[in-house]
Amino acid sequence: MKKQFPIEAFGNLQTPFYYYDMDILTETLNSIVEEANKYNYYVHYAVKANANPRILSAISRAKFGADCVSGGEILAALEAGFPEEKIVFAGVGKADWEIELGLDKNISCFNVESIPELKIIDQIAAAKGKIAKVAIRINPEVDAHTHSHITTGTREDKFGINFEQIDQVINTLDSISSVKLTGIHFHIGSQITEMESFATLSIKAVEIERYLTQRRVFLENINFGGGLGIDYKSPDENPLPDFKAWFEIFRKNFPTRPGRKIHFEPGRSLVGQCGSLISKVLYVKEGSFKSFAILDAGFTDLIRPTLYGAGHKIENLSSDEVQDIYDVVGPVCESSDCFARAVKLNKVHRGDYLALRSAGAYGESMAMQYNCRSLPKSYFSDTIQNLKI
Ligand SMILES: *Cc1c(COP(=O)(O)O)cnc(C)c1O
Repeated sequence: MKKQFPIEAFGNLQTPFYYYDMDILTETLNSIVEEANKYNYYVHYAVKANANPRILSAISRAKFGADCVSGGEILAALEAGFPEEKIVFAGVGKADWEIELGLDKNISCFNVESIPELKIIDQIAAAKGKIAKVAIRINPEVDAHTHSHITTGTREDKFGINFEQIDQVINTLDSISSVKLTGIHFHIGSQITEMESFATLSIKAVEIERYLTQRRVFLENINFGGGLGIDYKSPDENPLPDFKAWFEIFRKNFPTRPGRKIHFEPGRSLVGQCGSLISKVLYVKEGSFKSFAILDAGFTDLIRPTLYGAGHKIENLSSDEVQDIYDVVGPVCESSDCFARAVKLNKVHRGDYLALRSAGAYGESMAMQYNCRSLPKSYFSDTIQNLKI
């Protein structure tokens, strides 16, 4: 079944642009809230997946927290209405100004990824006469079985502190006085579809917490990060990620305890399915060997296929003629500017609208201006009909 797009309303809009279905976003948010509430789990949205102001404010209005990975994201989250006590700040390379910003804005937690960072946060907090609340990001050495560019929890990765160094971390914490350890943090990768990886993570977390308790380190927060995958192949059949199964894994393997909060930081799974990149076909180039559909969108608008070989379902919204086979490419002067090879599409003509589906996460937020191209605009299902052009 094809999803219905309001093509009449696309008429005068400059392509390419992002189109967000706000009903899907709302349904997704409702679904995760319902599942999280069953176990009293706390959900922070990973802002990097999509920092479009309208998307951010919809998520902040639904009372989520925000997981930020830069000073700019902290400012964007505050601007969108996320309260400072629900903002956490992760990332391997926090600049001094970003740490200062986090302290000045009284964010709830710095997720610390190295011992040198811990010491710098202590120094900066001391200079301000503040106490920084921190969680230690531990590398649990769990292989998420996802693309190597989006796996983050093995010892080969730059993220987090390896467990062998935990005694060193505890000693460092004992020697500094302007940070307070409140929890531990994990994030093992993205677009994870094998639930087994999350089970392994929760079992590791039990062991880590047990060790810390022996060392008389008591945790208020356990943060399991994000990473839940979405169905890129069948967005219409599976518009909602399986939040129920995700949380049940943790519920089964990781005990809840009074006074200790369990957090999650989904990005992709909240916003991936609500967005599509809408593009027009500029040319159909038919060779003897293959046919190219050349779009006005390129990797500057949606880089996931180029960056990780990711696949997006592509639909021709303007044609229901017999299908043909195309390589779907963009106009950018790089051979890697290709969205898909040898895909079946209803016969393509110049001027047809093509939708690249499931593009709500890591689409608009990764757009760039290479070739002096403009950044793609965004339109929303609930307001597009009222646009006066
Ligand atoms: C990117 C990231 C997330 C979100 O990952 P998704 O796969 O989009 O759910 C969560 N936490 C941290 C620390 C991240 O870097």
